[in-house]
Amino acid sequence: MEEYPVDMPDLIRTFRTEEDCLSYLRKLRWPEGYVCSRCKSREHWVRNRGLTLCRKCGYESSVTAGTLFQDTRKPLRLWFQAIWYVVSQKNGVSALGLQKAVGLGGYHTAWEWLHKLRRAMVRQGRDKLSGVVEVDETFIGGERSGKRGRGAEGKSLIFIAVEEMEHGLGRIRLSMLDNAASNTLIKAVQESVEPGSTIRSDGWDGYNRLPDYGYVHKPIVHKNAVDGDATPLTHRVAALFKRWWLGTHQGAISPEHLRYYLDEFTFRFNRRTSRSRGKLFLRLVEQAMHIEPVPAKSLKHKI
Ligand SMILES: [Zn+2]
Repeated sequence: MEEYPVDMPDLIRTFRTEEDCLSYLRKLRWPEGYVCSRCKSREHWVRNRGLTLCRKCGYESSVTAGTLFQDTRKPLRLWFQAIWYVVSQKNGVSALGLQKAVGLGGYHTAWEWLHKLRRAMVRQGRDKLSGVVEVDETFIGGERSGKRGRGAEGKSLIFIAVEEMEHGLGRIRLSMLDNAASNTLIKAVQESVEPGSTIRSDGWDGYNRLPDYGYVHKPIVHKNAVDGDATPLTHRVAALFKRWWLGTHQGAISPEHLRYYLDEFTFRFNRRTSRSRGKLFLRLVEQAMHIEPVPAKSLKHKI
């Protein structure tokens, strides 16, 4: 299904009622038509409130069960508007911005929704990067923690992988690292890059064993400053991430939430040239249907 609204007025027109939203979700959940999860029968009755009753075994299933939208007490219409707002703002949104745009009652709800949606921004089983991929690590944060003089404490180490394209930056993957040890780095590469790809690094020893794992490794070693930047693509992505982090979020992301912001940045970055916001809306709703519910209790209100 590739149905999506083209703009905000279209969204409002298309999803006037709760039933409109539910039937959209139903098509995403069962694109080939409803199948009973208990007896596999296709015979069913559609009831209201997103419930479907199997005509054969009587099993009742909810279209939102086991998804991000499970147990929500707010209308799906508002969720759809929130998702539209999130994908239509190029640089991301703050909880306050979302609260105002959608007319959510409280700041905390907006804050919670943004955190939940971030968890839907990474597609399960997504493709890995391939071709020529540049990798590097960078430190984020810590400057404001006041823990001066304790080295990297308060900072988070981020792994960056960028596909090289003819005209610059391709797709990216970002993840958090516990350290810059060889095993950690190789695992990070394996999680984000297809074996057989060529990996370019700045020559840090940690990447030396990559050929043992099926990668072609091309370390670029600095001999002197004239050689220039060994890994310019990752440095550009790191600079863009830091600018976004300082601009949209004022540098105030706690380490426990950082990986979800990396996911949000990746989601936005990899789709930055997409002209269709509607398609992004569809992707995010689709992915929200494929992730487990995120209990509010699991989100600590720390920013
Ligand atoms: Zn059944």
